[in-house]
Amino acid sequence: MTLLRGAGVGRGAAVGPVARAHPAPVVPDRLAAPADVEAAVASVGTAFDEVAAVLHARAEAAEGTVGEVLAAAAFMAEDDELRDTATARVRAGAHPARAVVEASAEFEELFRSADALLAERVTDLRSVRDRVVARLLALPEPGVPALTRPSVVVADDLSPADTAAMNLDLVLAIVIAEGGPTSHTAIIAAQLGIPCVVRAAGAADLEDGTQVAVDAAAGTVDTAPDDAVVARVAERRAALAALARDDSPGRTADGVPVALLANIGTAQDAEALPPCEGVGLFRTEVLYLGRQAAPSEAEQVDAYARALRALGTRKVVVRTLDAGADKPLAFITRPGEENPALGVRGFRLARTDAELTHTQLRALAAAGAREGVEPWVMAPMIATPAEAAQFAAMAREAGIARVGVMVEVPAAALRAAEVLAEVDFVSIGTNDLAQYTMATDRLRSELADLLDPWQPAVLDLVAATARAGLLVGKPVGVCGESAADPAMALVLAGLGVTSLSMAPSALGAVRFSLRHHDRATCRQMADVARAAGSADEARESVLALVDPVVRETLALGVHSPQPVSEVAS
Ligand code: PEP
Ligand code: MG
Repeated sequence: MTLLRGAGVGRGAAVGPVARAHPAPVVPDRLAAPADVEAAVASVGTAFDEVAAVLHARAEAAEGTVGEVLAAAAFMAEDDELRDTATARVRAGAHPARAVVEASAEFEELFRSADALLAERVTDLRSVRDRVVARLLALPEPGVPALTRPSVVVADDLSPADTAAMNLDLVLAIVIAEGGPTSHTAIIAAQLGIPCVVRAAGAADLEDGTQVAVDAAAGTVDTAPDDAVVARVAERRAALAALARDDSPGRTADGVPVALLANIGTAQDAEALPPCEGVGLFRTEVLYLGRQAAPSEAEQVDAYARALRALGTRKVVVRTLDAGADKPLAFITRPGEENPALGVRGFRLARTDAELTHTQLRALAAAGAREGVEPWVMAPMIATPAEAAQFAAMAREAGIARVGVMVEVPAAALRAAEVLAEVDFVSIGTNDLAQYTMATDRLRSELADLLDPWQPAVLDLVAATARAGLLVGKPVGVCGESAADPAMALVLAGLGVTSLSMAPSALGAVRFSLRHHDRATCRQMADVARAAGSADEARESVLALVDPVVRETLALGVHSPQPVSEVAS
């Protein structure tokens, strides 16, 4: 048995054949000039034709935004000017692959210097360039291959566009060599309930078609699973599916309510939710992705109304646009920021683009009115009580009654009482709170140990925020990925957090975990976690207090990942 180890996302497991995503081709520095120029010119035309045909076929098979993105790339592959520029270079003696790279660079320059609308097309241009060059060099098509059977997708890393282009119905699991537990791939996988292992050392050597067993709870990939491992994976899948069907509200063993809410990115997500008490984080930026301009107010009203309708009378917390840093949007993101995570992102965009926020708030209020419900709204990246007050005024002016902000910046956690004085609730975004507390880029996989939400310093800030909420009697939720960890959920409940919002696939396990522990135990866990000297010690000392039934059912391991074969079924 060969076991690759990484960081698991979610608790799921799956067995299936590897489908490798291939990186963009690298064009060698030295490539001979073509011997037969006319044949080389023809090969460029054929490569563009083939790429256009493949992209059109994929666009037709895809839906919505993904289809639009692929169709735009297909049209780019048909662009006569781009082809002519490339063939002119071949005629001037360049190797076809080099000619395409140079022609593409020339167009990129043009697009960038034109305007934001064209700058957005650079992604399409590069996608076409890489596909055409791969054909000319007889290399595999870059990106995720079109899946024809249920597969374990293995990649160095996946861009949001790669993920969007995958047929998710056929993705059993995702294994990536890079990334961290709060990277895009991890969040999307968690959202969809796809078992995922990130930072899997050795994943680069996995070959297409190899049967592997992925265990997200243990953070392992077994590259030669035996029958016993395959059987255990099947049992685990069945156990988790059973937990996901439980529709009881979140409660500790002694009946203390802790609302269990879902994180969503689209109205479709809202329509596909497993049992839960509402939505604690609607990441609206998904609606803006891949666009050349913000969606119109009317389009936003429709999208928000559709999500609200799916939830009926249940609570829905909509987050205003969180663009910038790890969520760049071509038409909003400011070029040239040296430290985008510390720059104009989240609510700070209202300084320069207030109309974006006003439009969004108006759309949300109108959606609520249309559906006859009162949506909750919150702003990301709030640092000061003054910003909280400014956002609250904007939201109330738009006609939204329940207004909150996210606590993602240590300054907001330290001043939680003052922030809470301005709003009705707060929700702690532990992904960013860990990033800013530990001064660690959430996308740097090699620093994932620092980014760990079990870091006692991060827990101290969560505790300070929860305490402020208890004092003033206002709700304090957690909606970062840490809420999905069934052991961390107990700590958060012990700290006095009133709701936990997570990837829908995590709800069953967290509900099960809460139900097996009373408030006194949760408080004890919170105390031992905060008293620990390190993140590992915090996690291990809490796990030692977790009910053995919960530990075994959910395969809650200690920090060092367990081999798949040792994971209890
Ligand atoms: C967070 O930062 O914890 C959060 C929930 O927001 P996002 O991951 O979308 O930045
Ligand atoms: Mg955040």
